[in-house]
Amino acid sequence: MSNTYALISLGCAKNLVNSEQMLYLMDEAGFELVPDPDGADLVIINTCGFIDAAKSEAIDNILEMAELKKAGRLGGIIVTGCLPERYKDSIMEELPEIDAVIGVGSFGDIVDAAVAVIDGEKLSRFAGNSQPVDEIPRIVSTGPSWAYLRIAEGCNNFCAFCSIPYIRGRFRSRAIENVIEEAKDLAEHGIKEIIVIAQDITRYGTDLYGKRSLAKLCHEIAQIPGIEWIRLHYLYPDQFDDELIDEIASNDKIVKYLDIPIQHINNAVLKKMNRRGTGDDIRALFRRLREKIPSLVLRTSLIAGLPGEGEAEFEELCDFLREARIERVGVFPFSPEEGTPAASMEHVDADEAQRRADILMELQAPIMDDFCNAFVGQTLRVLCEGFDKESEMYYGRSYADSPDIDGQVFFTGDASEGEMVEVYIEEADDGILYGTAQ
Ligand code: SF4
Repeated sequence: MSNTYALISLGCAKNLVNSEQMLYLMDEAGFELVPDPDGADLVIINTCGFIDAAKSEAIDNILEMAELKKAGRLGGIIVTGCLPERYKDSIMEELPEIDAVIGVGSFGDIVDAAVAVIDGEKLSRFAGNSQPVDEIPRIVSTGPSWAYLRIAEGCNNFCAFCSIPYIRGRFRSRAIENVIEEAKDLAEHGIKEIIVIAQDITRYGTDLYGKRSLAKLCHEIAQIPGIEWIRLHYLYPDQFDDELIDEIASNDKIVKYLDIPIQHINNAVLKKMNRRGTGDDIRALFRRLREKIPSLVLRTSLIAGLPGEGEAEFEELCDFLREARIERVGVFPFSPEEGTPAASMEHVDADEAQRRADILMELQAPIMDDFCNAFVGQTLRVLCEGFDKESEMYYGRSYADSPDIDGQVFFTGDASEGEMVEVYIEEADDGILYGTAQ
């Protein structure tokens, strides 16, 4: 009778890839995955730990599992990922309910941890966060039609507000042949859309090959039969060169959707946050991308209330949003993270940071509505992701929608999961499009 385990995956897409690798290793070792930790022999909680909100979410999950364990309804608790990595010296002491901890360099040891916990032992594994990226197969958890493809690990940018370089280590590209091999394997399993991720994908290859190699990588992925969409996330604004822009513009498989986190636009704030480039560099880049890539959808992330942001700097950010009319924007209130330079800098309080974040989202809402309304009367190519029993409609995403963070397209007609469907858009409502399959 095999031991059962449940897996709770928290945090970003990069962390989800690690969860998928642990699913593969546990399956290979004969452990049975169950949907509910209640009654399981083990639970693995793959955590995020880069900001307070994420840390609280992870700790809430751990304490909830500890209650199950105390009630005899769960055998053991394994905590992996960024939270134990960040607090490796104190986590087992502060949370004695935990049976084993695995750092970001030791996901490959998950089975050792599971076996140890089943045998009633405690275990800690922290192999460091800057050794070459482990090439571990994975069980894709995002459905039959799309998957993340993580091409590198760590970050060398050291933005002053960010704890990730201290948790995930130095930037390390995966070898291009390994990435291509994985993309081929995904295509052979029917994956149509590949979402390329890392902390900063524009830096891909600079460590291994001494030059930016994202354009080359995208060109090679596009040669793989079965791959129809290549979506690029986490592009650093000052790392765009002509080669990359030309590849994005000319490669039909690269969806004309670019996620370029800029965090702010004011020069003094950018400098203080150790962000490279100026506000004018960002404006020029966005103009150039829109000129070169028709119907481009831009996504960005902004942080409100950063150190150095007074009323004038905040107003400049508001004006920028009004001007740039960015289609997709995520806004976060500044969270001073211990151990980062920004945490010891003067800054507005949490309420003020949240108030500013709300203002930016209010500013952005009509811009995103106008963007969606403009699709009415057009026919869009949609990756069908399933059928919604409640609305009795199929649903999916167009090139303008990245999973979990953007909108969806609901449509009538006939389709199957994983199929690309031409949908005539008849209505737009609150970021959701409605139409009929052609
Ligand atoms: S680019 Fe900056 S914000 Fe992003 S992970 Fe690296 S240090 Fe953090």
